[in-house]
Amino acid sequence: TPRVFSGIQPSGDLHLGNYLGALKRFADAQNQGVQSIYCMVDQHAITVWQEPAKLRQATRELAAGFIASGIDPKKSILFNQSQVAEHAQLGWVFNCVARMGWMKRMTQFKDKAGKNAENASLGLFGYPALMAADILIYHATHVPVGEDQKQHIELTRDIAAKFNHDYGVDFFPMTEPVIEGAATRVMSLRDGSKKMSKSDPSEASRINMTDDADTIASKIRKAKTDPDALPSEAEGLKDRPEARNLVNIYAGLADMTVAEVLAENGGQQFSAFKPRLSDLAVAKLAPISTEMARLMTQPDEIDAILRHGASQAREIAAPILAKTYDIVGMVR
Ligand code: ATP
Ligand code: MG
Repeated sequence: TPRVFSGIQPSGDLHLGNYLGALKRFADAQNQGVQSIYCMVDQHAITVWQEPAKLRQATRELAAGFIASGIDPKKSILFNQSQVAEHAQLGWVFNCVARMGWMKRMTQFKDKAGKNAENASLGLFGYPALMAADILIYHATHVPVGEDQKQHIELTRDIAAKFNHDYGVDFFPMTEPVIEGAATRVMSLRDGSKKMSKSDPSEASRINMTDDADTIASKIRKAKTDPDALPSEAEGLKDRPEARNLVNIYAGLADMTVAEVLAENGGQQFSAFKPRLSDLAVAKLAPISTEMARLMTQPDEIDAILRHGASQAREIAAPILAKTYDIVGMVR
């Protein structure tokens, strides 16, 4: 039976890329009736420095973001990673399965560690093995993610295959990434070659889910573009990364294809298209941010939801960890 797992880091403010690439699609999976497990991956967040008070706040705000985006804790399991120790426990086993050479090929580590990789945490380097454990501790079959996570899901499959092969079992499934829709890689509003990220120091690079209407309009107005009008076919967006990004965002928000957006807007200047895009973004995000703000007035309720989700998650994870330990030869 299919089982969906996905996670988001409480490492900063949720942005439009997280919404279109992840949250919106999580709600779709849940509403199609697939068993879904969603995790605030706080142990991944601390692979780079997090102020403790901010981490706590960001975890609750992320939970509010999940719920406001349509994840119903009565239908889906919603919790934070550190409350389910089995993730880190299986993560250790996978540290011993994954090879140094595999990890060195991960482009996210290179991006995040930057020039001074010697000074990056060991956790940041090992992160994809813990991510594999997040997924496989539930035997999840499908992982909805943005395009940037494709390489990590491939590594998850490599780890599952090597474990199964080394121990001569058919235990961990080959998980499928689900990367769908027009906005699987939302780019920075300031630089069409960089993805929109929580950890980008530039506020102007992203639209936060909690930005008010004026802020959204001003960020889109200032978004980098080229001087040409919109083409009437997708082909015309080739070599125009900033223009393509804004069209992709429009398509993702409106649930349209790029071709449909261009059929309606082709020939328009950005001075005309940008206000339409802002209106659409505000219409979609305002109800979510209002609901997030309301939920944030009840932090105790959020904590109770996460504790309950963690106990549901543990029920699935504990037997899979026990079986793993038996396979590996740990006495218990
Ligand atoms: P950080 O910069 O701290 O890594 P992030 O913005 O990349 O934060 P994550 O928590 O790492 O967010 O990722 C959560 C989910 O959002 C993942 O499924 C990821 O693929 C997706 N995602 C992140 N950025 C984008 C983006 N720009 N476009 C589409 N999906 C995205
Ligand atoms: Mg990321």
